[in-house]
Amino acid sequence: KNADWLEYNADEMVKADKECLWHHLKPHKVFESQEQMIIVEGEGINVKDIRGREFIDMTSGGVWSVMVGYGRESVAKAVYDQLVKMPYFAGVFGNVPAIKFAQKLLEKLPRLDKVYFSNSGSEANEKAFKIVRQASNIVPERKGKYKILFRDRDYHGTTIGAMSATGQIQRKQDFGPFVEGFVEVPHCCCYRCPFDKTYPDCNIDCARAVEDVIAREGADTIGALIVEPITAGGGIIPPVKEYYPIVQDICKKHDIWLIMDEVVCGFGRTGKFWGHEHYEVDPDIVTMAKGLASSYEPLSATVVKQHVYDLFLNTTDEASRLNYFRDISTYGGCAGPMAAALESTRIIEEENLLENTVVVGEYMLEKLNELKDLPIVGDVRGQGLFCGIEFVRDKETKEPVSEAEMATIMGNVLGQGVIVGRTNSSFDGLNTVMNFAPSLIITKEQVDTVVAAIRNAIEKGI
Ligand code: PMP
Repeated sequence: KNADWLEYNADEMVKADKECLWHHLKPHKVFESQEQMIIVEGEGINVKDIRGREFIDMTSGGVWSVMVGYGRESVAKAVYDQLVKMPYFAGVFGNVPAIKFAQKLLEKLPRLDKVYFSNSGSEANEKAFKIVRQASNIVPERKGKYKILFRDRDYHGTTIGAMSATGQIQRKQDFGPFVEGFVEVPHCCCYRCPFDKTYPDCNIDCARAVEDVIAREGADTIGALIVEPITAGGGIIPPVKEYYPIVQDICKKHDIWLIMDEVVCGFGRTGKFWGHEHYEVDPDIVTMAKGLASSYEPLSATVVKQHVYDLFLNTTDEASRLNYFRDISTYGGCAGPMAAALESTRIIEEENLLENTVVVGEYMLEKLNELKDLPIVGDVRGQGLFCGIEFVRDKETKEPVSEAEMATIMGNVLGQGVIVGRTNSSFDGLNTVMNFAPSLIITKEQVDTVVAAIRNAIEKGI
């Protein structure tokens, strides 16, 4: 049946989609054999596909980024007005919405000082890595500190540098060789503790293990540690409260910068403006993307402390002849995304979406926990409007369900009119965590509808 309420023919579009597009992360056989869902409209947290089917979107646009929901005319209008006035001039020059949005970011990050704009989460992390690398070459006191530590389970992006800093083996296994100087440290998931311990009688060994890796590699070779405040694509893993203060002390002791990748957790996702605000920690560099402009426009940023910026200002290395961070990006700092970001952030503040995230997020976690009576719901974890269910065949052994079983559950959920996400689990190799990251406007009633649909989908059997 064609959706004649649309200005195009659904069958033709579905056919053209197959003929022309190469979709992200889509197995080719699945793509060739199945019709792809084409989303055409959205309002609030609801979306409609090209066939006229309606869904509740628990993914904020697929990858957790539409913070203020769909259909925000004021965001579209802000972008329109800006584009008509002044669409683009390169980031080596200034523009007013970029200045205003940088001011807003620094208001939200009072302990940081300088904002560097780019276009995606991967790029924001690459900038951070390039800052570390350039400093290790031109700043006398940081000479040779070029290595970057990253954690098992964390994801930092799709480019080769960001992949080199990613701890999920299955995501990166076919793309090597990777960039030299990226070194893995253990993860911190209590459900599958890498040290086979149980919190709180564990001495927080996962945090202390960072120091063992530093000792092995040599502190004088390490410039930074990058972490996701709460691991997202690696299985929705919030660390225990002691974790970051210990990690921070270790980093400070060895003059290693702490980079917080807030690409997923920033802009309210976890109930505080930044994910790291749940912990006593004070990062040197914060990277962000996704929620910045609620993904109405692409935008990312790398925000640094003054001491990082100053290293470039004061370098006396004659050989380098450079007193600046030698990096440029054509679209980094574009005016349109800034206008979207300013308006989206105004909505988050004025509609108290953080408060909604705390209240409805707690409710969502509680309701999802009730699903633990089902035999395959192994673990439920999360923070704010960011939760995950890890599915297992056996709760004792924690043997995971198979990819095929997981696909069946996902299909059942979609059949109930709900779009949920699926990520890596707390160990490598399988995508057995279902995730829930709706726009920050979701209500308790909508959570009830979703959780009932999940229960039905699971009970329908795998
Ligand atoms: N960091 C984290 C924590 C992410 O989850 C992602 C993307 N999901 C990225 C970085 C990369 O962002 P992008 O896809 O915008 O390059």
